[in-house]
Amino acid sequence: MAKMTTQDYIALEDKYGAHNYHPLPVVLEKGEGPFVWDVEGKKYFDFLSAYSAVNQGHCHPKIIKALKDQAEKLTLTSRAFYSNTLGEYEKFVTSYFGYDKVLPMNSGAEGDETALKLCRKWAYKVKGIKDGQAKIIVCDGNFHGRTITIVSMSTDPDSYGGFGPFTPGFIKIQYNNLNELAKALEDPDVAGFLVEPIQGEAGVYVPDAGYLKKAYEMCKAKNVLFIADEVQTGLCRTGKKLCCDHEGVRPDILILGKALSGGVMPISAVLADDEIMLTIKPGEHGSTFGGNPLACKVAIAALQVLEEEKLAENAERLGKIFRDEISKIQSPLIEIVRGKGLLNAVVIKPHKGKEAWDVCVALKENGLLAKPTHQHIIRFAPPLVINEAQIREAIDIIGKTIKSFE
Ligand code: PLP
Repeated sequence: MAKMTTQDYIALEDKYGAHNYHPLPVVLEKGEGPFVWDVEGKKYFDFLSAYSAVNQGHCHPKIIKALKDQAEKLTLTSRAFYSNTLGEYEKFVTSYFGYDKVLPMNSGAEGDETALKLCRKWAYKVKGIKDGQAKIIVCDGNFHGRTITIVSMSTDPDSYGGFGPFTPGFIKIQYNNLNELAKALEDPDVAGFLVEPIQGEAGVYVPDAGYLKKAYEMCKAKNVLFIADEVQTGLCRTGKKLCCDHEGVRPDILILGKALSGGVMPISAVLADDEIMLTIKPGEHGSTFGGNPLACKVAIAALQVLEEEKLAENAERLGKIFRDEISKIQSPLIEIVRGKGLLNAVVIKPHKGKEAWDVCVALKENGLLAKPTHQHIIRFAPPLVINEAQIREAIDIIGKTIKSFE
């Protein structure tokens, strides 16, 4: 049988898979560190990192070893029984981030759902809001996942359109607007404020310096939980362990996902102190796979790699180089470069009918993979194990590609 080509693989997915994504036309079969290879053997810089899940680099040997070792012993018990791995992981992850307790889940969306449920329970059991009345403040442009409740919070018609009826109980305010937050916090039924420290999917919107800190203080003054969705911004991506660390903010509820496994399997976690976490009793929340033995071992290894390889420091240093160098590119296509650490975006001004998608296709031809978010924004977020020589090579590719459109 003839070897399958890129076009064959794309046709296969197109015929048998739901059309809920529009991938760049490249078919990958191998990854290592900051690189991936397609089925024709072509090598690329990965500047998406699976939406920041692969912070530790593709197939990190330490994480893969943890996966393999545990896979041969025990993979799943469910939470009907104890395992000899969960307690070890719970102790590790809570001391790593400084919380009393963790609730382990799988996807980022499940992490967000868990945080919402915790916030509501806390509202009724601790804050004393009348049952069924709790409200949670969210921001325009948010992205927290794809479940019905999460799209109920969304202001993006692509996310919520055609999926109603929606879950009530959310107040939507402008991101990065403390006046609107102050107004919303006047409502005594508000229990929580859910926020991304940088809005990743919206296009890497970095709020003003001081926004998170002030928002946190305002929440405290009203006995409202500050809930940080660090699924994309956490785990060294922005140059600190958590993006909230840039402002010395410790969220009341912290949501993690993606790189918690180094991209090896879906692992998410919600961290909080006892007053919040112990409001949920046995039988009230859970997941068959949450906290499974494989996930426990993989997450410990993934978190160790972040520290051992100083990936926060690397992201901080190389992120500055990236923004400095990309800002120097003179092109009518580049409107603005923004970001923190190695979570960056270039806003593309359409030029001679060419848009962000065309730039990404050309980047692919030149050996670098990135994906537009919202028509005109390209996110650049390589694995944090990338080194300076590699990032300079990638910057060259981006510069040459953008110049080729003039
Ligand atoms: N929260 C944020 C901030 C995200 O960026 C994402 C995914 O991009 C999610 C939640 C959802 O994560 P998942 O796709 O694992 O459900």
